[in-house]
Amino acid sequence: MMAILEVDVLVIGAGVVGAAVVRELSRYELALLLVEKEVDVSFGTSKANSGIVHSGIHDRPGTLKARLSVRGCQLFPELAAELGFLYKQNGAVVVARSREELAGLEKLAENGRANGVKDLSLLSREELSRIEPNLSAELAGGLLAPSGGIVVPFDLVFALTENAVANGAKLMVGTEVRGIKVEKDGFLVRTNRQPIRTKVIVNAAGLYGGEVAAMIGDHSIQLYARKGEEYLFDRKLEGLVQRTIFPLPSKVSKGILVIPTVDGNIMIGPTAHRVENYDLSTSVSGWNEIYSEARNLVPSLQPADLITAFSGLRAVGTTGDFMIAPSMISPRFINAAGIESPGLTAAPAIAEYIVELIKESGLPMPRKRRFNPLRSVVRLRDINPQAQAELMQKDPAYGQIVCRCEMVSAGEIRDAIRRGATTVDGVKLRTRSGMGRCQGGFCTPKIIRLLSAELGLPPEQISKNGPGSEFLFGRLRGNQAEKAKEEKEYA
Ligand SMILES: Cc1cc2nc3c(=O)[nH]c(=O)nc-3n(C[C@H](O)[C@H](O)[C@H](O)COP(=O)(O)OP(=O)(O)OC[C@H]3O[C@@H](n4cnc5c(N)ncnc54)[C@H](O)[C@@H]3O)c2cc1C
Repeated sequence: MMAILEVDVLVIGAGVVGAAVVRELSRYELALLLVEKEVDVSFGTSKANSGIVHSGIHDRPGTLKARLSVRGCQLFPELAAELGFLYKQNGAVVVARSREELAGLEKLAENGRANGVKDLSLLSREELSRIEPNLSAELAGGLLAPSGGIVVPFDLVFALTENAVANGAKLMVGTEVRGIKVEKDGFLVRTNRQPIRTKVIVNAAGLYGGEVAAMIGDHSIQLYARKGEEYLFDRKLEGLVQRTIFPLPSKVSKGILVIPTVDGNIMIGPTAHRVENYDLSTSVSGWNEIYSEARNLVPSLQPADLITAFSGLRAVGTTGDFMIAPSMISPRFINAAGIESPGLTAAPAIAEYIVELIKESGLPMPRKRRFNPLRSVVRLRDINPQAQAELMQKDPAYGQIVCRCEMVSAGEIRDAIRRGATTVDGVKLRTRSGMGRCQGGFCTPKIIRLLSAELGLPPEQISKNGPGSEFLFGRLRGNQAEKAKEEKEYA
């Protein structure tokens, strides 16, 4: 029988919600554990979305979505300064495609003001084309929300988890919760690894939130998946639009958007269609729908500049709002379910809210004296040439470029592995290697070798994103032990 791991709070699911909750909880003297069934954090919905920090104009006043997204948006600038994740407050513009839609913009502005969104302004057609000259000349006007921003979503999750771990939280990836027994003073949790005893559980399992709640007999969480496809264009389009461009929203979604990413790409999407399975393919019909809508906003977009596509699944609840509350079965089991859009935006505020719910459950939570809110990572691309040269002088691995498209060095890849990446996707999301024009065609073999050397594993065991996605099969030529030693020195 394996020893039971005893903690105060167990957070299930290392998406943006679980990561934000555990980071917020790491301000307190608590034994914290974040478990994730995938091989890395942010491998669920938090990896594949539009990366927009919404201003809060879209959500219905009085809902948790409205309150927590406005608060979340306000928290981003300081959080980004503390944790050094990729974020930019670029603002958002909702456009009217015809004169008839202008009334819709006014209504949206009223909605935003009711939610407490500041500095909204209506723009004439001329004002709109002055600030965004590449928009269609057919557009009739706009609504500017300067507080909106963009973020690299997985970078946010890495930053939150790394900072939580630096402040004493424990992270276990590849750990799936499979059963939960309610006990007198907490819960006994069965996983594919060791059992866990905990006083409090936060259910942040995304699409699987219903299954996890059902493990304690709570059947109130009914979720379905709404798929969103996204299409990414080459960085050479950087600056085509400065702000995130929205059409007027429909009943189910905020519409097809033109999104400048923090890294300088342009992205268009997402679709919003209910699906019955969790497959993450993209489709010709999805592309046709997105491209035709996006071209109404920015006519110069060309398919030839497309570099990749992906899709994500929103976990949609039955209430039309986030479902964040203690379970009826136990006040110490907090559901954070139905976190569809704007869940990424709201996550820091959801975390504050959940911490209050845990306090109300009676768990003693003394403040930590020495909480360190800061995190730093080396990003060669973002520092000036002199600082780059100094870094390379100190550590030559920063001078060896592995990913030519995105200019990522062996040093940064090594750091990413030491920060927790165990797969090629884990390295890619932490460093951008493989995200450029060639989409990893050049650097993937080198990254496999670096992972193999740093983790001390044969290259055949290095995978794209976990077991079953290994790249190499059969016996490889050459002496692997010697090669691994060589790579270790090189890294
Ligand atoms: C196409 C698309 C575009 C979007 N755009 C935006 C946007 O621009 N702005 C915005 O604010 N929001 C956006 N969203 C919404 C946002 O992405 C989500 O609200 C957010 O990522 C949800 O995070 P989460 O932590 O709840 O879920 P997830 O990221 O899915 O995390 C849940 C985690 O729990 C793990 N897990 C599940 N079951 C178990 C178990 N039994 N044991 C252990 N681990 C388990 C999963 O593997 C997963 O990693 C978008 C969503 C989509 C799909």
